Amino acid sequence: NIRMLREELQLLQEPGSYVGEVVKVMGKSKVLVKVHPEGKYVVDIDKSIDITKITPSTRVALRNDSYMLHLVLPSKVDPLVNLMKVEKVPDSTYDMIGGLDQQIKEIKEVIELPIKHPELFESLGIAQPKGVLLYGPPGTGKTLLARAVAHHTDCTFIRVSGSELVQKYIGEGSRMVRELFVMAREHAPSIIFMDEIDSIGSARMESGTGNGDSEVQRTMLELLNQLDGFEASNKIKVLMATNRIDILDQALLRPGRIDRKIEFPNPNEDSRGDILKIHSRRMNLMRGIDLKKIAGKMNGASGAELKAVCTEAGMFALRERRVHVTQEDFEMAVAKVMKKDNEKNMSLRKLWK
Ligand code: ATP
Repeated sequence: NIRMLREELQLLQEPGSYVGEVVKVMGKSKVLVKVHPEGKYVVDIDKSIDITKITPSTRVALRNDSYMLHLVLPSKVDPLVNLMKVEKVPDSTYDMIGGLDQQIKEIKEVIELPIKHPELFESLGIAQPKGVLLYGPPGTGKTLLARAVAHHTDCTFIRVSGSELVQKYIGEGSRMVRELFVMAREHAPSIIFMDEIDSIGSARMESGTGNGDSEVQRTMLELLNQLDGFEASNKIKVLMATNRIDILDQALLRPGRIDRKIEFPNPNEDSRGDILKIHSRRMNLMRGIDLKKIAGKMNGASGAELKAVCTEAGMFALRERRVHVTQEDFEMAVAKVMKKDNEKNMSLRKLWK
């Protein structure tokens, strides 16, 4: 046992390698490498290494004693890149949104107006809103509208999922939140869109789950900190979305943080008709098709479900190798999509019993 420990100790005491980054290849067997704090060195490469694999900015390891380049390391992927989806001005527009007229109007007022005309707020002497909370059931167009606002304001769209943030980046949540705002500043004007915000900011943390809790709280505190810290006039807006406003921590909604909330209900019959029209715009429909009738059959359906019906209807036509989509295709699609929905509700109901 003691011997094992001793061996381990010896391994630990063996000199490590330096990690550096290739600046350029010099001739056939020498490379200029930057080693972070120390500086740049011209080094030899080990026989086992194929010099053609080495290009500028490759990460490499140097022997501690001889500075011989003896390993090519995989490039480091910044975890940030995986977490955040950055879109330089998304392609969604307001006219791709069915219904939600009031919501569009409100978001224009809170987000678009201050970005386009900050002078209005200045001359009135009122502070710009920093952000809004979008809430409502899944698939009701929250993400869609957020992307459309970014489009119409020429903003970079930075999207983060709250649940991913706390589940995949354990121990790094608060750093990620800081980096998020740094990134937003670098890309300003920008819109930060945080989905499933309730995973970070839920009021009643279930205790007893242990490890995660205080970490989630720290992430939340950092988020509040960042919200308090940035100036709304810096052309950064924060949009948050949730399906569970009931469990959301009110601290997020204090004045000076996320000032406004906008509700996204499931669409009414007219809006359902509009949404069907939008998603079937590019489809080859049989003449005289009655989308209103379809909308009438889809009580309680979300925007996402209406979109699914259009796709399914197209699939039915495709299966029979027809070039037109018929009313019947739509009817079958409704039955299929709404049935899925019923099954989901059924199993939920069973759970409650
Ligand atoms: P979640 O809470 O699950 O994130 P969400 O409200 O963000 O949902 P979206 O991602 O915006 O939902 O919507 C899902 C899809 O449904 C979108 O790709 C969009 O095409 C369609 N959709 C939803 N609502 C509408 C709408 N009002 N008009 C047109 N399409 C819609």
